[in-house]
Amino acid sequence: MKDVETYTAPEFVRSPALRALECIQCSARYPVDDHPRGCPACDAAGRNANLFCVYDERADGLEDRLPYRNTPALGEGGTPLLRLPWLAGASVKNEAANPTGSHKDRFAAMAVAHAAASGFDAVAIGSSGNAGIALAAYAAAAGLRCTVAGFSRLPEATRQHLTDLGADLRLFDTDRERVGCVRELGARADTLAVSNIATPFVGCHPVGIEGYKRISWEIAGQAPAEVRHVVLPTCRGDLAWGVHRGFCELSALRGTSVPRLHLVEPIPRLAAVLDGAPVTGHFPGDSGRLYSIGGHTTTVQAHRALTGSGGSAVVVDDAAADVWFTRLCRRGHVWERSSATVFAAYERLRADGVIGDAEHTVLLATSHFFKGL
Ligand SMILES: [Zn+2]
Repeated sequence: MKDVETYTAPEFVRSPALRALECIQCSARYPVDDHPRGCPACDAAGRNANLFCVYDERADGLEDRLPYRNTPALGEGGTPLLRLPWLAGASVKNEAANPTGSHKDRFAAMAVAHAAASGFDAVAIGSSGNAGIALAAYAAAAGLRCTVAGFSRLPEATRQHLTDLGADLRLFDTDRERVGCVRELGARADTLAVSNIATPFVGCHPVGIEGYKRISWEIAGQAPAEVRHVVLPTCRGDLAWGVHRGFCELSALRGTSVPRLHLVEPIPRLAAVLDGAPVTGHFPGDSGRLYSIGGHTTTVQAHRALTGSGGSAVVVDDAAADVWFTRLCRRGHVWERSSATVFAAYERLRADGVIGDAEHTVLLATSHFFKGL
C-alpha cells in the first residue's frame, strides 16, 4: 500500500498504425498533432470541422485502429448490453456502468493517454458535468493536473465529485466565458485543451473520440441479432461520430453492415439542418433539465454521422424525457434524463415505421443519475 504515494503512471504507447488526421469535411490530411480549432484549412475558410484518426490500411486488427495501445486503467468499457423484458426489439447498452458513470470515460482514457504521451502536464475541458468528472478521474490516474470549466448551474453533487478528484473547477455563466477559459489554458505549453475552443464548435479532441469506437465493437459482439439501428443522445456529436466510425471500421474489416444512427436532441438543431438550415447556425430553444445535451449549436461531425449512416434526427424535449425518466426509475434504472430521451425516441421511431418490428435496435443509455444531471 505504501506504493500508492510513489506510484508513477506507465508510458502510454501510440499505435504504430496511426498514420494521420483527416478532415471530416474537406478530407485534407495532417500529421498526428493537436488542432484544437479543428481542420486548419476549414478553419481558415470560416467553416470549422473536426478531424479524425486514419490508420494504416494494412492494420487488420481492431485494436490496432485505436490511437493508444494502453490507457490509464480504471476499468472503462465492457459495459453490459441489457435485454429488458418490457422492451421489444431492442437492447440497451448501459454506459452508466463505466467507472465514473458515463460513456465519457472512454474519451477521457484516450485523451489523457495522448496528453501524457505528448508531454503535457495538464488537461483542460469545458464540461456540463460528465466529461469533466471523467477527465478529472483519468487525469488523476495518470498524474496530470486537470481544469474543468463548467457552468455556474452545475449541480452540487457534480461540483463535489470534481473537487474530490482534485480538479481545478472554474464556473461561468455563459458558454463564451467557459470556452474562453479553455482557450486560454490551451494556449499554455503545458496544457492540452481537449474540448471546443473554436467558433463554430467542431467537437472534442479526435484522439479522445476514438475511444467511442469500442462501443460499436462491443455491441457487435453482444447483440442477439444484426443491429440495424442505434439510438443515442446527442449534443455536439462526439459520441455519434465515434460510434459511426467504429461501425465503419468493423464493416471494412469484417464485412458487417453499418447501422443507421438516430441522433436524439432536446431542441431542433440537426432536425433544422436537415430542413435546410446551415450546420454552423445558432438554434434557439430551451433544453430544460437536459443539461448534458443542451446548447444552441451542432457540428459537422454530428451531421455526417447522421447522413453517413442513413439515420435521422429526433427531437425529444424535457417534458417527453421526463415521462420516460420516471418510467425507467420505477423499473429500477438509474439513468440520467438525457439517457431517457432515447427511449422516447425509440417509441416514436417504431410508431412512425422508421424502425421496423423485426429490425434489432440498440439504445445507448449514456450516463448515471447520481451526479444530479
Ligand atoms: Zn477541412
